[in-house]
Amino acid sequence: MEIKKLFFFFVNAYVITEGEHTILFDTGLMLPPEQLPGLCAENGIDPKKIELIVISHGHYDHCMLASAWKELTGAKVLCHKDAVDYMRTGVKSPMFTYGERAKNYQPLSWMQGMFNVPPTAAVTYQPYIDFMESTAPPCIPTCEPDIIIGDEDYDLHPYGISGKLIHTPGHDDSAITLVTDDRKAFTGDTILDLHTVQCLECVYPEGSYSLNWINKGEDIIKNSAKRIVEEADIYYAGHGGPYTREMIEPLVK
Ligand SMILES: [Zn+2]
Repeated sequence: MEIKKLFFFFVNAYVITEGEHTILFDTGLMLPPEQLPGLCAENGIDPKKIELIVISHGHYDHCMLASAWKELTGAKVLCHKDAVDYMRTGVKSPMFTYGERAKNYQPLSWMQGMFNVPPTAAVTYQPYIDFMESTAPPCIPTCEPDIIIGDEDYDLHPYGISGKLIHTPGHDDSAITLVTDDRKAFTGDTILDLHTVQCLECVYPEGSYSLNWINKGEDIIKNSAKRIVEEADIYYAGHGGPYTREMIEPLVK
């Protein structure tokens, strides 16, 4: 299995090849679509060989170029059912919604610290909302997913890749992780480099990598990460990485 990382500003996408078969895990963001062929050429990737595009979760930095890649490659786009609305409408990431959905939203501790408000107030605190709004594009190009998966495991062997997708909620309800039979995991933002996103090392003294829970509680993402650690030994993150078992295992305890 060959892994090529494509880096877009602050987010990773991965091209995974096994024999004659190739899939793309996440899409990157903000690059003009006409520059994708050049990026592929620089990295020795034939885009026509990509057969499947997997969206790790429905946040703009991971799926913004889905339609551009789909057009370039002719590949099918796969996402979890909870990412479908965002893929179809391109309007606001669920990460940035408030109102009804915010009742289930548990803000990160750094947000509370940043705005000096209690957790329950953070979701309705206007400077916080303004901050969250300002960090996400109001809309992204829409992309109709071809394959929509649920919470159960999804086998990738039919695509020639020795691995599966597992549902790993926590960062987002739609979060999925690709684990290979030889124990590699592509984690999206379930495990990620926090330096890349914000300067959070003061909040997360254990290091610059962490479990990043947003839409669900800490226990939920720990359970997700626990499963990843059970099934894989090296973790290719959506931001930063890759990380080793020695780094991540203590976080799931
Ligand atoms: Zn991300």
